[in-house]
Amino acid sequence: SAERLANKVILITGASAGIGQATALEYCAASNGNVKLILLARRLEKLEEIATELKKQYPNVKVHYEKLDVCDYDKVEPFLNNLPEEFKSIDILVNNAGKALGVDKVGDIAQEDVEGMFATNVLAMINFTQKVLPIFKKKNSGDIVQLGSMAGRYSYTGGSVYCATKHSLRAFSDSLRMELIDTNIRVIEIAPGNVETEFSMIRYKGNSAAAGKVYENTTPLYADDIAEIIVYATSRKQNTVLAQALVFPSCQA
Ligand code: NDP
Repeated sequence: SAERLANKVILITGASAGIGQATALEYCAASNGNVKLILLARRLEKLEEIATELKKQYPNVKVHYEKLDVCDYDKVEPFLNNLPEEFKSIDILVNNAGKALGVDKVGDIAQEDVEGMFATNVLAMINFTQKVLPIFKKKNSGDIVQLGSMAGRYSYTGGSVYCATKHSLRAFSDSLRMELIDTNIRVIEIAPGNVETEFSMIRYKGNSAAAGKVYENTTPLYADDIAEIIVYATSRKQNTVLAQALVFPSCQA
């Protein structure tokens, strides 16, 4: 897969932590640093640290990082137009930025949390895909990796809105995959079970006891487990698309 990844330009949203951060590292490891990474998130200082660390480990790697809130929909097109020349021809888009805000019964969910989840997990994901697609269509190639979730297959109490967003992502991704069937553009939906990242702390709004309980007495997935699968999926031969992958920790029912 190192050969298939060589010189690829890979854009990762939500690259300052968790699965996005691990995916940046995994692309470097799988290509011996022979990739060009575009890393986006709201916390610029985290991206800066990650870029420095990646370059230390993989001196060849090219990294461009920027502070970008994916919910600032109008900023995406100017950002793409203003990329340094060698990063402009994106090959892989990893639509990873996402969140669950709260574990509440339907009547208790704050409107701002409903909007926050739909804005990030659905509207921003669709917007980013729409803005990057012309780049892929122009060269008739490219991979769109969608971070879905088991919550896009099953629903659970307290997860109504988050589950609704990930079901939306799944529907959108599947439809897009069919729309692009006569092209060399692939749509890949990776749907993880429990992965131990900052996600749980955000879901429980900083309540570390509740956040930690999710992983108690289990061996969860770690961010690098999902990163490996993303890199695997995007380094298959062109005739193969890993269209949907449900990835559980071995101990999860
Ligand atoms: P983390 O909370 O660890 O990381 C989320 C990343 O998204 C951070 O880098 C954060 O950066 C970024 N982000 C959040 N909001 C925005 C925004 N508005 N604009 C730009 N970047 C943003 O979560 P995970 O790594 O666990 O999750 C990644 C994806 O995987 C999500 O889509 C999630 O729904 C999905 N997933 C996670 C599971 C899990 O158990 N962890 C299970 C199934 C799916 P910053 O704060 O700096 O902006």
